[in-house]
Amino acid sequence: MKLLIFGPPGSGKGTYSSRIEDRIDVKHISTGDIFRSAVKGNTDLGKKVKEYLDSGELVPDELVNKVVKERLEGTDDFILDGYPRTVEQAKFLDGFMDVDAIIVLDVTDEITIERLSARRVCKECGEVFHRLFNKPKKEGVCDKCGGELYHRDDDKPSVIRDRIKTYENMSEPVIEYFEGKIPFVINRCRKADAPIDKMVDGIISQLEEKDILS
Ligand SMILES: [Zn+2]
Repeated sequence: MKLLIFGPPGSGKGTYSSRIEDRIDVKHISTGDIFRSAVKGNTDLGKKVKEYLDSGELVPDELVNKVVKERLEGTDDFILDGYPRTVEQAKFLDGFMDVDAIIVLDVTDEITIERLSARRVCKECGEVFHRLFNKPKKEGVCDKCGGELYHRDDDKPSVIRDRIKTYENMSEPVIEYFEGKIPFVINRCRKADAPIDKMVDGIISQLEEKDILS
């Protein structure tokens, strides 16, 4: 099954993806992971990606497309997070792969802000925790790998509103592009402390209802 997941910062994309991964046979793949492994592998594409990342510049569509395609080739069951970000990328993906469904996490700005300001991320594996709603077993330590948890600078409230705006500007045309082409599973969350497992149940049953999960 080939799934895409969209959601504003703070919608819990990482958390949802990893819970969905535990429930059905898909692997969570984020573009961050794809970039990191390309850079680590020191492939030709990886070297180019590194130049952009080091200079703080946005990796251009054409290069993102190549790296993502290289990573996804031969992979059948995944939930992809962070791609496509532009209509160009969406068209490219559409050209080489049939996506089964798009999961959209729909949350309000208030929830985003409430969640992000208490979010802690693992330095080693990127797993996401929350100081109130999704606490690690041991404060400051990742349940998955034992890595150290930290508060990202861009999770500070002053920066969050800009990030929401950026997400909206980015995702709207991409979602529009896929409308009518690919089934959508929309997860509406109106409470910051909505139990994740329940929300994931809802996503899985929508996938079943739409005959995507068989
Ligand atoms: Zn970790």
